[in-house]
Amino acid sequence: MLFRELSEYYEKLESISSRLSMIDVMGELFKRLRPNEVKNAIYITQGVLAPPFEGIEFGMAEKTVEDSISEATGHPKEKVESLYRKHGDMGVAAMELKKDTKVRGISSKEHTINDVYEIMVKMAITSGQGSKEAKTKMLASLIATATPLEAKYLVKYPLDELRLGVGDSTMLEALSIMATGHRKIKDKLERAYNLCSDLGYVGEVLAEKGESAIERFKIGLFKPIRPALAERLPTADEIMEKMHGECSVDQKYDGFRCQVHKSGKKVKIYSRRLEDTTEMYPDLAQAVIGEMKADSIIFEGEALAYNEDTREFLPFQETIRRKRKHGVEEKVQEMPLHLFAFDMMYLDGESYMEEPYKERRGRLEKVIKGGVIRPAGSTIAKSSKELQQFFQESIEEGLEGIIAKDMNAPYVAGARKFSWIKMKRSYRGELEDTVDLVIVGYYLGRGMRAEFKFGGLLGAVYNKKRDMFETISRIGSGFTEAQMREFKQTLDKIKVDNRPARVDSIVKPDFWVIPKYVVTVKADEITKSPMHTCGREKQEDGSEVGYALRFPRLVGEETFRKDKSVEEATTTKEIIEMYGQQKKVRMEDSGS
Ligand code: ATP
Repeated sequence: MLFRELSEYYEKLESISSRLSMIDVMGELFKRLRPNEVKNAIYITQGVLAPPFEGIEFGMAEKTVEDSISEATGHPKEKVESLYRKHGDMGVAAMELKKDTKVRGISSKEHTINDVYEIMVKMAITSGQGSKEAKTKMLASLIATATPLEAKYLVKYPLDELRLGVGDSTMLEALSIMATGHRKIKDKLERAYNLCSDLGYVGEVLAEKGESAIERFKIGLFKPIRPALAERLPTADEIMEKMHGECSVDQKYDGFRCQVHKSGKKVKIYSRRLEDTTEMYPDLAQAVIGEMKADSIIFEGEALAYNEDTREFLPFQETIRRKRKHGVEEKVQEMPLHLFAFDMMYLDGESYMEEPYKERRGRLEKVIKGGVIRPAGSTIAKSSKELQQFFQESIEEGLEGIIAKDMNAPYVAGARKFSWIKMKRSYRGELEDTVDLVIVGYYLGRGMRAEFKFGGLLGAVYNKKRDMFETISRIGSGFTEAQMREFKQTLDKIKVDNRPARVDSIVKPDFWVIPKYVVTVKADEITKSPMHTCGREKQEDGSEVGYALRFPRLVGEETFRKDKSVEEATTTKEIIEMYGQQKKVRMEDSGS
């Protein structure tokens, strides 16, 4: 398929306001692709060059793109700049200038999707001296032969400003339509995706080898598995009831989740978001080679700074200082990490994904020699009293809480299930846990905040069933001045005129943005509200009520929660559960 034709689909997608039509358009697009184009079309549509663990990113400066547009259209750079300022959108600037172009393309060759993708990858990996000029030329050569609409997307893609809003779930349903005409194999595709975390690859396997290859899909070394996640319950009694009277209980460490892949002397350490973070942890990588008694293994653990002398776990605020790209070696000396291993998915050629947890954990403990890598502290609890006691001990040791684990459950990739249940320290008067909200809009600053042109956010949770973002709260406090500037600058780039198709909202912010960023928010409680669409339901009196947050404020180490994608934000289901738990705790507190 030509990139020109793909651009026409993108134009359609941008004007769609319903998720179902989005799936239809994507399904139709996929059906028209050749099998060897599916993978690249998926990456381009999601605005990436590769899955996160491959670490290939654009990093294109706006100035370089402006140079390319100027070179390809013959218009002076100042004109490109002023149009960009006028529209706040480099793609629209490129499109307008192409309509009025002074330079004809050197060749009339039209570029296919694969041509564009290959050139974009080349652009991304070009580095060193003269690379800026080389990148400018490559992009200019694409723009020169493009139609105005094509130019718009050729520019937006490397700037990470495609605003199509096609999420993983939409993509999976569209792939199902491509293969079968309906959405019925979405679950099979999702399973494959959870095992390899690479949507492009799943699409390619489906297009080239068919449905049966998707059914046979297995995990593999150096393709990270989407992580299992924990449900939450507030009391030991409720956890025990869910676990049918017996479970394994782990200490819950507050550090970095690491998924380790080892084959011989090759080691990779993936973050919770499945980025390759090996370079940040040379000490852990070394320990994996020296201490794990396995030729090949995939296992998971939490990395945490631990003071050997005082036998203290350091708080997350300390551990996070290890998360850096430069000066790694000094920090390794200053703040050595321990890796507390808690699960294992693969060992010496065998997948352990389907094995019961007690089997996986037992094998894991056998291959750990001890040293930097240790098994996470755990016990078997046969009553809620035992569970409560272990929880208490963990808190006293300075940990966050515990995670109860169903001893018979398989490893549930990419899902929040009751096979893991977390219980954390409770802070009375506040919601026990923070929530991670997706930014779907923002407000202009008024009064004292007028100078920042930023007054607050509109936050949403993810409804997995509907694959929609439902609003739950405005967030107007907890920001520093620097953060307000950062919000304004970052969100301006993903502003859109109309409510995005996957956002469900009654309130209207001053500006809508494409769901792309997650922030961590603390609130006093969850209340019912007619203003928000989170869990909105018809009441007996005919009115419709959803859930909202009371006194929400931004918290967290970083402005944006970079380790979570929008689909990994707090879900509607979790909010409803938290609301129920909050009611229960209150009743207990008042002695009823
Ligand atoms: P949180 O902010 O509570 O970490 P989360 O959404 O990142 O939330 P959860 O599903 O709530 O993740 O909790 C599981 C997380 O707890 C894991 O991602 C992991 O990083 C961490 N963790 C710490 N200790 C353990 C353990 N022993 N077993 C499993 N996960 C653990």
